[in-house]
Amino acid sequence: MSLHQDLIERDRKVTFHASTHLRDFAHGDAPGRVITGGKGINIVDKDGREFIDGFAGLYCVNIGYGRTEVAEAIYKQALELSYYHTYVGHSNEPQIELSERVLKIAGLNMSKVYYGMSGSDANETQLKIVRYYNNVLGRPQKKKVISRMRGYHGSGIASGSLTGLKAFHDHFDLPIETIRHTEAPHYYLRAAEQHGMTEREFSAYCADKLEAMILEEGPDTVAAFIGEPVLGTGGIVPPPEGYWEAIQPVLDKYDVLLIADEVVCGFGRTGSDFGSHHYNMQPDLITIAKGLTSAYQPLSGVIVGDKVWKVLEQGTGEFGPIGHGWTYSGHALGCAAGLANLDIIERENLVGNAAETGGYFQQQLKATFEGHPLLGDVRGVGLMAALEFSPDAKQRLHFDPALKVGPRVAAAAMEENLIARAMPQGDILGFAPPLTINRGEVDEMIGRAKRAIDRVTDELV
Ligand code: PLP
Repeated sequence: MSLHQDLIERDRKVTFHASTHLRDFAHGDAPGRVITGGKGINIVDKDGREFIDGFAGLYCVNIGYGRTEVAEAIYKQALELSYYHTYVGHSNEPQIELSERVLKIAGLNMSKVYYGMSGSDANETQLKIVRYYNNVLGRPQKKKVISRMRGYHGSGIASGSLTGLKAFHDHFDLPIETIRHTEAPHYYLRAAEQHGMTEREFSAYCADKLEAMILEEGPDTVAAFIGEPVLGTGGIVPPPEGYWEAIQPVLDKYDVLLIADEVVCGFGRTGSDFGSHHYNMQPDLITIAKGLTSAYQPLSGVIVGDKVWKVLEQGTGEFGPIGHGWTYSGHALGCAAGLANLDIIERENLVGNAAETGGYFQQQLKATFEGHPLLGDVRGVGLMAALEFSPDAKQRLHFDPALKVGPRVAAAAMEENLIARAMPQGDILGFAPPLTINRGEVDEMIGRAKRAIDRVTDELV
């Protein structure tokens, strides 16, 4: 047995893996893989097989793999101080500097950063802030949060409730009572059903649906709306034209806070620093993770805008110190990694590269796949994109889910040594490579994807 196979067999006995068929994996009927290294946009497994990572891990390794500069920053910080808690006003130098830099990048009247370890826990914090905010304001009934179908905000009890994907709710008794889901801004899927609306008309339709939901629930019960600037796990769907422009006034009208979940979009993915900048959103609260450290350390954050911050201050004036905290909030090693990561993003102008090489990537994807017999929709922004498969693009038909077209294409891509992600809830192949990618690597990635898709097309017709 190879060393790789031996590791996989040991893993099967002892590890519970995310988003995995637990029985099949434990019993050897689902594949495993042990990743041992990476450089740039490539990763290597225990057999020494190299893959282009077209999804940057889980769209998080924005600066690419193997950055010794970040490893050195973590090491240096660990020699000085690995950890001390940040309760009751304690801090560490990297946390202070990182907050200053994050607030400067975010702009948008943001005031303070609270750190966590994952996007899920950051969204748990967001929900607690929203509840506290309305309790301080004497509106205890204003607690519901509206999310979108196909939104992804994590997989905890509350954050998983915000998520609008069936697989994250079924059999877990989710969503919890105070969460609602409104229309997904997925123009391609809904346009046919909605009698050929333009994108702007569809955006207005989504805003109307949101307003109707707020009115039906009672505006005095709706506290916040949460959305990713670009739907991520729900299918990598950029908003239809005019979407945020149409949503924002509805929120303002009913005094509903906007939480921008920038876990994927933040730190350059769209070609702007934040998705909120890209789409001119005016969030009250922002969730960050992934690109904050490019996953060299687990670190997330909640960025609190001035308006909410003032109320939180008022609350502690009335109730005393806030009853919220994680042991690892503001972890010195995470913050040190974050600073080294932001240095690289800035120095190498990776946000500019996401716009420029991202533009080339989008153009090449369309040139290669529009009109391809297996393709329904080719979409994306910056360095995130999706191919949605359909047996009939014009009529927006879907393949029989039993055919597992999305997972088959992803598996065929693996055969080509390309990792692209079969997204849940649809036959969708997602791309979100490291922001360091260059045009030659884009060509190579698309070439491999094309061979994989052609192969599955041959099998299906
Ligand atoms: N929010 C968004 C938009 C995400 O894409 C994710 C994860 O993919 C999360 C939140 C949850 O982050 P985590 O998996 O770090 O808990």
